[in-house]
Amino acid sequence: MTTFPPWPSEADSQLRVHVNRTLNLRTIKAIGYDMDYTLVGYQAAQWEERAYAYLKQNLIEYGWDSPEFKALEFDAERVIRGLIVDQDLGNLLKVNRFAYVKQARHGLDALSFDAARQAYGTSIDLTTDRFTQLDTLFSLSEGCIFAQLVDLFDRQGLPGVYDYRGIWSAVRKALDEAHIEGELKRDLLKDPDNYLVRDPLAARTLLEQKRAGKTLMLITNSGWAFTRQVMALAYDPYLPDEMTWRELFDVVIVSSRKPGFFTGTHRLFEVMDDEGQHLKPFAGQLRSDAVYLGGDAGQLEGLLGLSGDEILYVGDHIYGDVIVSKNLLDWRTCLILAEMEQEVAYLEAIRPLQEQVDGLMAQKQRLEIEYDRARANDLLGQQSTRKKQGMLREQLVSLDQDLGDCLRSMGKHTNPYWGSLMRAGADESLLAQQVERYACVYAARISGLGLATPFHYFRSKRSMLPHDL
Ligand SMILES: [Mg+2]
Repeated sequence: MTTFPPWPSEADSQLRVHVNRTLNLRTIKAIGYDMDYTLVGYQAAQWEERAYAYLKQNLIEYGWDSPEFKALEFDAERVIRGLIVDQDLGNLLKVNRFAYVKQARHGLDALSFDAARQAYGTSIDLTTDRFTQLDTLFSLSEGCIFAQLVDLFDRQGLPGVYDYRGIWSAVRKALDEAHIEGELKRDLLKDPDNYLVRDPLAARTLLEQKRAGKTLMLITNSGWAFTRQVMALAYDPYLPDEMTWRELFDVVIVSSRKPGFFTGTHRLFEVMDDEGQHLKPFAGQLRSDAVYLGGDAGQLEGLLGLSGDEILYVGDHIYGDVIVSKNLLDWRTCLILAEMEQEVAYLEAIRPLQEQVDGLMAQKQRLEIEYDRARANDLLGQQSTRKKQGMLREQLVSLDQDLGDCLRSMGKHTNPYWGSLMRAGADESLLAQQVERYACVYAARISGLGLATPFHYFRSKRSMLPHDL
């Protein structure tokens, strides 16, 4: 009898599931899982450092071989998920939920508040092709190299490109053409300990869901050869007796071409060999011992005899996994956001500072009201309050200094260039807004769902409006 690792306590755990919309797991009949960065966790910094090395190598082959370019190194903190690339001005932007630019960096340097305001006004139009959100697997490496290349271009130019848009296209081209993902997957299988995040509780999560009668589905864009090897590495050591990961899943679909899987109709095939090379067209009923390729979500719903709201889809890609599945099919959604572990640790670390800031802000607001009233009284030519106004102004300046000190101390606990992932100043970041809008629930790992049990009723908090007491 295998003994499973125990669940951590809900209170002190970073595994918690965060709820945007009420989700009753008892009414969910099938749970579909994405694989890369969802069922299988990767060490993003190692993976991206390797991706960066391949990307740089390809660009050197394109003729960008100056000693300065060759000397560039990956900086895992330079970019966070959710940032916007401005291809026209060569900037990286962090915007809030109103598409207002809260932070901007050109190349390696921060743009001043005034410069950002002058360039972007009160909001930017994210629907134009000038702006691209960094939300893919390669976000950290491509964003980092783009910032470094903009800096290099400003200082000494780059062969064959004449503007920042040219730099972005070259980076994208080098990524798309070079099959970097295939190379990375080969590296991972050779040295899994360097790249995999092992989570024995993920195996326990799936086993409990399976025993609770859920239909479990694996729906991945990866090919069968990689899928079967990496799933065995991530799950088989943690399952009881001779059980393998294959016995957990009722449906396995590889090379699913999401988001196309959710948006179009595609033929479904059965995979006939270990390498995923031999296929035959699907016919009849789904079998749990078979492996499928392609197909689409509508066909899958029909074969399972389920409606969208009986299916929960769990994935890490905000667009490919969550926005389209929620929007087009009304599947329930769970977003896996590995960064939530850091984000929750950050919020815990800054809690005393946050309380101090809240206190100072309340004090500031009181003084401002008093100051405004004193100025308004002066308008009626009553006894002058100039002296009082002077005193209040001094107090406000000193309060601002204290606030600045607190905010700088908070910044030391989070990304040095961009701060928190989910906040842009006091407001929600664009990423946070997308998460709120499209993910019914979100968590750092799938074992968060396990901690909650397959029977849990996730209830959303009452949302606050500005006039609420
Ligand atoms: Mg994924």
